[in-house]
Amino acid sequence: MNEYDTEILKSILGSGFLFTTDPGEADIVLLNTCSVRENAERKVFARIYQLKHENPGLRIGILGCMASHFKDKLFEQKSLPVDFVAGPDSYRQLPEMLARSQDSGFDVTLSEFETYENIFPFREKGVNAWIAIMRGCNNFCSFCIVPYTRGRERSRSPQSILQETQQLVRDGFCQVTLLGQNVNSYRYEDTGFPALLKKISRVEGLKRIRFTSPHPKDFPSELLTVIADNPGICKHIHLPLQAGSDRILKKMRRKYTRQQYFDLVGKIRDVCPEMVLTTDIIVGFPTESDTEFWDTVDVVETVQFDSAFIFKYSPREGTAAAKNYPDDIPETVKTERIIQLNGLQKNISLTKNRAHIGETHQVLIEALETKKSKADVQGRNDGNKLVILTNNDYRLGDMLNVRITGATAHVLKGITE
Ligand code: SAH
Ligand code: SF4
Repeated sequence: MNEYDTEILKSILGSGFLFTTDPGEADIVLLNTCSVRENAERKVFARIYQLKHENPGLRIGILGCMASHFKDKLFEQKSLPVDFVAGPDSYRQLPEMLARSQDSGFDVTLSEFETYENIFPFREKGVNAWIAIMRGCNNFCSFCIVPYTRGRERSRSPQSILQETQQLVRDGFCQVTLLGQNVNSYRYEDTGFPALLKKISRVEGLKRIRFTSPHPKDFPSELLTVIADNPGICKHIHLPLQAGSDRILKKMRRKYTRQQYFDLVGKIRDVCPEMVLTTDIIVGFPTESDTEFWDTVDVVETVQFDSAFIFKYSPREGTAAAKNYPDDIPETVKTERIIQLNGLQKNISLTKNRAHIGETHQVLIEALETKKSKADVQGRNDGNKLVILTNNDYRLGDMLNVRITGATAHVLKGITE
């Protein structure tokens, strides 16, 4: 979402400013920030001091969720060298803010309506384009700061999303990923998320459609049939679990039980047995006992996710959990739990990936080198798994039939047929 917001920002600032990726060359550095866990914020503070140390004349702006989270505190803390603060709904004010060359600027007002729908983001050429179909969130899960930093949920019109998708195809993109904090609650007049997906799947020339994330509490059956019936919609669902114990799920205000989660997974696999499932999990939520942690382990063992992002609980100021429950699980216990769960998930991912050896997957090439080798290319299969193969004059956006010949917990390796 922040990458996408940065593309919107670049479009808004495009006519009056020049961009550089080298901070040494910049007069102004804007940091687009995340507040979802304390660690993300800590990194931003460290970066501000480092930038200012390297160039004391630099003007620095904090954008995004940390702007909303800290509001005027960022200015009150005189020691913090920040000149601009703009929340996620204030980006249209930025050109004016930055143009006042000697002043500082501040706007963290959250809007009920801003979707930046008439702004065509400035994207680097590539294979995948992000499109936010909605902004904000109304769910108020007790651990989560997003509803406070990004404001109320609002959806963008299907017409504007479709027009943008058509333009993206003309610009050479072959995949779109639709973004929303809970895509299942997308609604614009009488269009819900399944209908929106169906409309996008008819855009000519688009090879793949992905989306993230659907909340398990309100997953419509129609969404499953739309995914199953449309080859262009990838067979991958990111379905955040968060916890496997009913008591903890209730305290998290997730509005589903472990059994309902199991039932949903069963329904998904009945309609589409090959669906790749991934998830998010939080360990060490306040009062989580060993037994309750093992309930999460049990769900992970039972569901057999393809992969999982696992986080230690991080109290976020202003949220219901931070107000009502002391962060009482010691750091050492959180660490033990995350190691345990990551170890289990790694074995599951490895077993699942190895089972693909010998199969043929359609792979969309997205990079013409890998971290390890300039002789290899990488792409993703329909289920969003990374696939690496030796380069043979391939181009970005090529869709190749690849026979899987090897697997680790994180990547598949293959050769073209
Ligand atoms: N809207 C998405 C989640 C967005 S935040 C959804 O509901 O699925 C991405 C992930 O960060 C969450 O799924 C959760 O696992 C994690 N997260 C959010 N707040 C957190 C906190 N306070 N501590 C630790 N992890 C957190
Ligand atoms: Fe946060 Fe819950 Fe909204 Fe996701 S659905 S952004 S976890 S409040």
